[in-house]
Amino acid sequence: MAGVTMWLDEARWREHQRTVAGSVPLVPVAKGNGYGFSLPRLAAEAQALSAASPGAEAVRSGAIAVGTPAEVAQVRDAFDGDIVILQPYDGADPLATSLAGDRRVISTVSRVGDLERITTAADEPRVLVEVLTSMRRHGLPADRLAVVRDYQPRIRFEGWTIHLPIRDQGRYAEAESLGRAALSAAPGPLWLSHLPAEEVVALGRQLGGSGGAPTPVRLRQGTRLWLGDPGAYRVTATVLDVHSVRRGERAGYRQRRVPADGWIVVVAGGTAQGIGLEAPTSARSMRARAISVATGSLEAAGLALSPYTLAGKKRWFLEPPHMQSSLVFLPRSVSPPAVGDEVPVEVRLTTAVVDRIVAV
Ligand SMILES: *Cc1c(COP(=O)(O)O)cnc(C)c1O
Repeated sequence: MAGVTMWLDEARWREHQRTVAGSVPLVPVAKGNGYGFSLPRLAAEAQALSAASPGAEAVRSGAIAVGTPAEVAQVRDAFDGDIVILQPYDGADPLATSLAGDRRVISTVSRVGDLERITTAADEPRVLVEVLTSMRRHGLPADRLAVVRDYQPRIRFEGWTIHLPIRDQGRYAEAESLGRAALSAAPGPLWLSHLPAEEVVALGRQLGGSGGAPTPVRLRQGTRLWLGDPGAYRVTATVLDVHSVRRGERAGYRQRRVPADGWIVVVAGGTAQGIGLEAPTSARSMRARAISVATGSLEAAGLALSPYTLAGKKRWFLEPPHMQSSLVFLPRSVSPPAVGDEVPVEVRLTTAVVDRIVAV
């Protein structure tokens, strides 16, 4: 089948997941485009992952996290535990309101007024309360956390959520001080993001109760869990057509002139698959750009480097990608691929949607 294909080494991928799941109760995050794998697929993997850790009750969280209320439906059949909605509860959203009353769903409340709204919307809703961090995205500021006590009889309080920025410096100290403030307002599990597993475990111990028992902790992970071993998958695109062209001839939607004698290779994948949308900022492409400008080559002719590798190199787009295919230019000195060949394409899996996943 022609298209954009992910070749997935499932055994290796799952081995990586188990390594990540190691020592701390893990909450797999399945949101957005499903990190390139789709949400139902990740839900099934999360289910298998928790079943695959026999004897590891202590590190099983029994929960998965989705981004939005609409995503709940995409994971609930394949995963049989709790479903956390990461996006802050919005009382004006009818779906969020109806899910607040769902026994399998845990809502995240990030504004004081929404504690009132959610207790009005549902009977004893299951609630995580978000603590504002230096991300300055969502959450109650540290000096308002005690308000949770007023609502505790009317909610099932599932704990505190702390979403830290991705950076090392001062991260543990921030988690510690916010965790301490939260626990002094109300005891409960701490749900954390972007902290190494060892630090999460250490934090639970450090903030443990007076009886010596650690505070329960959970670690949410998405990118590292699903995409942390790039050797577990590769992505290719099918060559759909090849045309011989001469310098100066016009081609493409925009009828621009072809910069040299060579080939136009039509490959599967375009904006519909999220191809050509990645920010061209990697050091390598910057260097490629500098070189092409210096040598007056194709980029100087107004072309952009494509993510497709043909005959061993990334090649230039003749024009911006179309919906489901792209035109790539190959100089005459290179022998073109055959129609039906699969060629490597570099995609960012947090924005891409592949047409199919093939287990290898
Ligand atoms: C998306 C999200 C995560 C997962 O982030 P990754 O960087 O993909 O691991 C964790 N926590 C929260 C609150 C999120 O919104």
